[in-house]
Amino acid sequence: MASNNSGEGAETVEIAELNAIKSITNDEIIVEKAGADSSDEKREKARHHFSEPWEDSDVILVLENETFHVHRLIMSMNSPVFKAIFKSQFKEATANEIPLPEKNAKGVLDFLMKIYGPQYTKKEVKITMENVEQLMQLSDEYQVTEHIFKPCVEFLEDEPKTKENVMKIRALAEFYDLEKVCQDCDELLRGMTLGTLSETVQFENVEKDKLQHFLTQRIKVLEDYLEKLYPQFIGLLECCLWLWHENKRSLEWCPTHFSRGKVDYNLDKCIKVCNDCRKMLGRLASSTFPRIKGYYTDNTPYYNFQNTYGNAISNRHSFDKCLPDIIQRYSQLMAL
Ligand SMILES: [Zn+2]
Repeated sequence: MASNNSGEGAETVEIAELNAIKSITNDEIIVEKAGADSSDEKREKARHHFSEPWEDSDVILVLENETFHVHRLIMSMNSPVFKAIFKSQFKEATANEIPLPEKNAKGVLDFLMKIYGPQYTKKEVKITMENVEQLMQLSDEYQVTEHIFKPCVEFLEDEPKTKENVMKIRALAEFYDLEKVCQDCDELLRGMTLGTLSETVQFENVEKDKLQHFLTQRIKVLEDYLEKLYPQFIGLLECCLWLWHENKRSLEWCPTHFSRGKVDYNLDKCIKVCNDCRKMLGRLASSTFPRIKGYYTDNTPYYNFQNTYGNAISNRHSFDKCLPDIIQRYSQLMAL
């Protein structure tokens, strides 16, 4: 009131206005300096689409060191939460500034760019691994469901899962209860060797129940695989024994369990109980294993076993001498 009553008051206002203009000018200089800085973040801060009032913007979102000029109507149309804020009896309803404490400026900028869209901002903001977490957090909090949250979920579904991104995607999927995304991540993790899994999951940092989950699912997939593989392996071995017999190659066959090159009972069951069957497989292995003959200094011969299963050069195909052991170990591994 005083400002309208006297020349002195008017002068005060003018000085105040001048100071304000000066301070804006100073700010602009600071912004200019920031713009010249090499930091992308500062440059973004200087230029972003919402840093100045535009198109009758009527409300300002205020972060710690950043302001965003937006429109009540557009925010209300996109977010039921903002709509409620503007309609509420809280002081935010009429205030020109709405504080958004503890929000990340880059996240809020991408969020607003998505809300407004390229028709207003002249720039398409794509959902990426870098901004998806912030976009989901804000669109969940402010219930911008169709326009931002759902596309973020689709992004997580479609994004190829890799060693590098799987834990971040899985954490988001778990937090927002996205079952399919979680399953896709687990499928990748199940297929990892223990070494890769340890690096990816970071066993030393992960909670005990998660560690148990990852290790259990890996063990389960290996056990399932072994259970399917083993009968195939035994079947192939039985087939080889039969071919050996058909080819009239010599072998000391187990008199109890073999006739005409065929086992009377399951081979792996025989191996468990019959020493003759074990010896027979041992002899099959040693007679097929590639050997190189050498001589000791006193001219007695010795044989070096080559670590090969046969190739085009050696033209030999062989069993390993551990064959009986491998069969027995399977029974021990899967016994209980
Ligand atoms: Zn036998």
